[in-house]
Amino acid sequence: MSKRFKGKTCAYCAMPGASGTGDHVVCRAFFPVEDRDNLPQVPACDRCNGTKSELEHYLTSLMPFGGQHQNAHRALAEMVPARLEKNHKLRAALAMGLKQRFVSFNGSPWQMAGTLPVDGEKLTQYLGLIVRGLAYYHWGFACDAQNYFVKATYLTEKGSAIFERLMSLDASARVVRDLGHGVFHYSGIRSNGHPELTFWRMSLCGAEVAATDGDKRMQTRFSHGFTVPKSIPAAEKFMSLF
Ligand SMILES: [Zn+2]
Repeated sequence: MSKRFKGKTCAYCAMPGASGTGDHVVCRAFFPVEDRDNLPQVPACDRCNGTKSELEHYLTSLMPFGGQHQNAHRALAEMVPARLEKNHKLRAALAMGLKQRFVSFNGSPWQMAGTLPVDGEKLTQYLGLIVRGLAYYHWGFACDAQNYFVKATYLTEKGSAIFERLMSLDASARVVRDLGHGVFHYSGIRSNGHPELTFWRMSLCGAEVAATDGDKRMQTRFSHGFTVPKSIPAAEKFMSLF
């Protein structure tokens, strides 16, 4: 790993000078080998790197099973089995949870898709770290716990609608990227009035996540995330919505 990431502010916990290494914001193992170059990297401290690696070990074994994008089946065939070999406990859980069903997305031909129980807490914790990494990578700031709220989550229809309105607000900068042909797709905006107020829409492996909202069952492939400086007067109220 190159020296350029040593001794910098950790992109995840914002500890100054704490980074020992560079970290791929979205883990390389999600991507087929030929798509692993030029993925976003940020400085990370050993602690954050360790926490993130644990989540990645779990999610890179799991998420490709739920994927709809063109690389999902290759990921399944080429990358997942070797990783599962090394983790018998996880493999047993997956074998029990995997159900195949036919689905159609936006009128596309019917195809087999897997449904898996995902540890939602781990998934949203990971997406929260990705939001921190992307904010640092694109716009150069890191969020410490004292001064920022950072969260990523899967929202209900109503929550998504609120969020989509926020994403169409006047922005000082926007970014839209597709990494690895659909493996990780994201867009983000930076608020005009508050440059460290950012909103993100992400999809990981094109996997659909099912959730219940009261009696309503919903399914979505998009998660939403944000960084909110606590100095903004409505910050706390905003956070209580999500
Ligand atoms: Zn850190």
